[in-house]
Amino acid sequence: MTREPLLTVSPAGLYCPKAGVYLDPWQPVERALITHAHSDHARPGSKSYLCHHTTVPLLHARLGTSSGQVQGVQYGEETAINGVRFSFFPAGHVPGSAQILAESDGERWVFSGDYKTEDDGVSVPFEAVRCDVFISECTFGLPVFAWRPQTEVFAELHDWWKRNQSQGANSVVSAYALGKAQRLLGHIDRAGGRVLVHSAVWAMCEALGFDMSGLERASAETRAEGALVVVPPAVLGGSWLNRLAPYSLAALSGWMAIRGMRRRRGIEKGFVLSDHADFKGLTSAIRATGASRVLLTHGYTAPFAKWLTEQGVDASELGTSYGTDDGEEQ
Ligand SMILES: [Zn+2]
Ligand SMILES: [Zn+2]
Repeated sequence: MTREPLLTVSPAGLYCPKAGVYLDPWQPVERALITHAHSDHARPGSKSYLCHHTTVPLLHARLGTSSGQVQGVQYGEETAINGVRFSFFPAGHVPGSAQILAESDGERWVFSGDYKTEDDGVSVPFEAVRCDVFISECTFGLPVFAWRPQTEVFAELHDWWKRNQSQGANSVVSAYALGKAQRLLGHIDRAGGRVLVHSAVWAMCEALGFDMSGLERASAETRAEGALVVVPPAVLGGSWLNRLAPYSLAALSGWMAIRGMRRRRGIEKGFVLSDHADFKGLTSAIRATGASRVLLTHGYTAPFAKWLTEQGVDASELGTSYGTDDGEEQ
C-alpha cells in the first residue's frame, strides 16, 4: 500500500493533507505557512499565516494582515499541526526567508521556497536540511548560470557610480524592494556620495528595521547630482525618473546574464546578481539534503529534472504557480 504523500499540489497550492494546511498557497486558504514575503509566495486573503518572525511585519505591510492573523516562529522552532511537525530553516534568499520542513511518521519533506547558497550579508545564510523528499526551486537551473562573487559585482557597481559622478550624472539602480535593495544598501560605500532611496524601497527597509543611516528618502522634489538612487523595477519606463536626469540606469538581477533582457527595458548597465542559487548552488544544495527524491518548481524545471535524472537522481517537475506573478526578484 502506498501512503498518501506528505505534501501534494492541490488547486489552491502546495498542500499537506494530513495537517490540512497549505504552504505558500496561490489561493486564499484557512491556514497558510509562508516561506517569504515575495508576492508569488505570500498572497492576500488567507485566514491565518505562519512564517518566520522577520517576515511578520513584511506580510502586514504587503498583505494588510492584522497582528492576530500572523504568527511568527524562529528558525528551528517546531509547530505541530494534526500530528505533522513543521519547522522553518534559513533559505538565504531574502531577509526572513525560510525553507519549511514537514515531518510525519519518520518521513521528512522540505519545501525550499526560493533560496541561494551565497551569504548575502543581510539574510540568515542557507542551511541544507536532511530530508527524504526535497521540493526545490530551480529558477536558474541551467549550467550557463554561474554567479560571480558579490564582492566583485559591488566593486564594479561602485566604479560605475564613480564614473557617472565624475560626469555629473546620477546612477539609478533598479533593485527589488525586498532582498536585492537591502543587499545593495548593505554593501555600497554610503560615504561615497548621496544615496537616495525610493519610498517603496524605504518602506520595506523600515518594516525590516534595516539600518538606514546616511541614506535619504527620495521624494518628488528631490534633485541630485552624482547620487546613487535605488528604485524598484516598477518605476522604470515611467516619469518618476525624469527629475534625476542626467542619469545612467542599471539593474541588479540574475536575468542580466541573459542578452536582450537589458535592452528591452532601456537599461544601460546590467549587474548580474541574483537572490536565487545558480546551477552549482542548486546542485550542491540538492546533494547536501541527501534527498532520495527531488521535485522541481520555478524556471527551468524540465531541463533541470532531465539533468538530475542523468546524474541518477529521482527528479521530476512539480507544477506550481510560483515565479509567474509579477516576477518579484527574478
Ligand atoms: Zn522570492
Ligand atoms: Zn519564488
